[in-house]
Amino acid sequence: MSPAPLRGALIGCGFFAVNQLHAWRDLPDVEIVALCDRDPARLALLGDQFGIDRRYADAEAMLAAEALDFVDVATTVSSHRPLVELAARRRVPVICQKPFAATMDDARAMVAACAEAGVPLMVHENFRWQSPIQAVRAVLDRGDVGAPFWGRVSFRSGYDVFSGQPYLAEGSRFIVEDLGIHSLDVARHLFGDVTGLTARTRRINPRIKGEDVATMLLDHASGVTTIVDCSYATKLADDPFPQTIVEVDGALGTIRLSAGYRLTVATGAGATETDVSPPLLPWASRPWHNIQESVLAIQRHWAECLRQGREPQTSGRDNLKTLALVEAAYAGAASRKPVDPEDF
Ligand code: NAD
Repeated sequence: MSPAPLRGALIGCGFFAVNQLHAWRDLPDVEIVALCDRDPARLALLGDQFGIDRRYADAEAMLAAEALDFVDVATTVSSHRPLVELAARRRVPVICQKPFAATMDDARAMVAACAEAGVPLMVHENFRWQSPIQAVRAVLDRGDVGAPFWGRVSFRSGYDVFSGQPYLAEGSRFIVEDLGIHSLDVARHLFGDVTGLTARTRRINPRIKGEDVATMLLDHASGVTTIVDCSYATKLADDPFPQTIVEVDGALGTIRLSAGYRLTVATGAGATETDVSPPLLPWASRPWHNIQESVLAIQRHWAECLRQGREPQTSGRDNLKTLALVEAAYAGAASRKPVDPEDF
């Protein structure tokens, strides 16, 4: 007999939550039983769309009233700490959207609160779960290209992200905190932890407050050197949004994940090119399908980890290292000096 579905609730019925709710619905062993948003219109819209009748304007009231196996926090960063600490107090396992926190102090406080309460905590850091990125990782793990010595994780686009997420134009920080955070996590996933970082940032779009271009040079403990670069100011003939381009040079060959989801592996034995396009889930839409599929993958991972008592790949503890790279990038861009992520 299969076990009863995990009972979850979601807080924050905004732009991205719709993907999370679709993905939860695709997982037969999970049921989202309640929703929370302080905005009644958004609560009604997603409640009606997904047929979820138990609706709350206040997260505290929801956690007091519902028996939950987990809570999925899909709000923007300023509410993460109070909501994660609330879940910890209630001893409810919690997923928190990225960026996990606006400061390392907040991030450490959330990790400590969940650890003290014995509550699992995962950051919804989904880019490493994109199937093309997983395909690169699989080639690396097979050892076909030997030990990597150089890599590049690149995201360059002119896509207008501000239409769907207007708050992104308003913060003093933009691309490193919002998008570069994913690229830095992918670099950690592929090449391991980072011991040094040099960064340069620019603001090209005059209508936003934060930086929209960042170029980072990373030293990995493994000895690999990588470039992580991202831009929302790059006007291309064929905009690859929202694809991440990856290059790896290894002692025995190279890996290239190019636009159009083409994966080329070249070794002494020759070159192979594979189409690693992500599947288009029934509820997904191009070009977002790449990200949407990764939402399903990370949420499946969470459900498996929760049932098996395993720490998720992007646990709060793990995500402190990705967040430290974000802080290091801003500090290094300001000082124009190399920085040690351990200092954050
Ligand atoms: P949004 O502003 O559209 O939605 C947030 C919702 O949360 C709003 O409806 C708001 O009313 C609600 N809310 C905020 N605080 C609340 C509280 N204390 N209690 C109840 N409801 C509350 O934001 P969004 O664009 O959906 O982004 C949400 C998060 O998702 C952000 O942190 C963003 O960085 C992240 N995001 C991640 C990805 C990804 O690929 N992982 C993509 C887009 C956005």
